Amino acid sequence: MELEVIEKNKYNLALIIRGISLEMINALRRIILSWIPAMAIDEVIILKNDSPLYDEILAHRIGLIPLKTDLDTYKLPSDCECGGFGCPSCQVSLTCEVVNDSKNNLIIYSGDLKSSDPNIVPVNPNIPIVKIGNGASLIFEAYATLGRSRKHVKWQPVSNIFFRYLPNITFESEKCSSCPDKCIVSRMCPESLYDFSDEKIPKLEKNYWNSCTLCKACERNCPEKAIKVDWEKDNYLFFIESDGVLPFNTILKKAFEIFFAEIDEFVEKLEQVEIQE
Ligand SMILES: [Zn+2]
Repeated sequence: MELEVIEKNKYNLALIIRGISLEMINALRRIILSWIPAMAIDEVIILKNDSPLYDEILAHRIGLIPLKTDLDTYKLPSDCECGGFGCPSCQVSLTCEVVNDSKNNLIIYSGDLKSSDPNIVPVNPNIPIVKIGNGASLIFEAYATLGRSRKHVKWQPVSNIFFRYLPNITFESEKCSSCPDKCIVSRMCPESLYDFSDEKIPKLEKNYWNSCTLCKACERNCPEKAIKVDWEKDNYLFFIESDGVLPFNTILKKAFEIFFAEIDEFVEKLEQVEIQE
């Protein structure tokens, strides 16, 4: 397998992965999407709510605030010694107490949540929760736990994850010379992957593979059959978009840990079956 990083920053990771099967890359995508635990608020006790929103809507909004996750310190409630009852190994408490003493309306943001663990805080302090009027207040306690997005999407560790085939376009520009007029067909490319600085014979952009959607509009419409759109077998463009809940390295490492643990469990169960026979 070969990896090439084409973009990496706090919120985006784009890779070219060569030499991986479709089944394997899809397994990786699905493990990241629904098996890696992330922190999210799962219980809200509302003590005072003068906002225009019902308690349930408020609790739902609070649950969807992405929280920084620490997989080394915290356990899933189902794996914890407390049996999921809630203890410092599986639960973090966050409180919010805002009283609007001003004469204007006040917006309460995710940054108004005070966490019992400074490592488990909202990834962004500027997410609006609700607006309250003057003299109004909002007081609640919330409990965050690890969970998996198989149960609820609030525990999804990434915002988006997808892959696509690595495009491979063969463009024989020498065939273009027989076209009497300016090239019209490659102008049909919705992603504008052809460079028309030379009006008669266009050039294919160098990094066309990054945007090509394999729509084949150019191939279908070329009268000289100079363009052939294909994709490379077992080579993929792989994209992960994050909201900053977990670093990309942790996400990928954890995905393979889970994958190998599942295979080990499968082999173990298979061996048990053979002994019984
Ligand atoms: Zn516990």
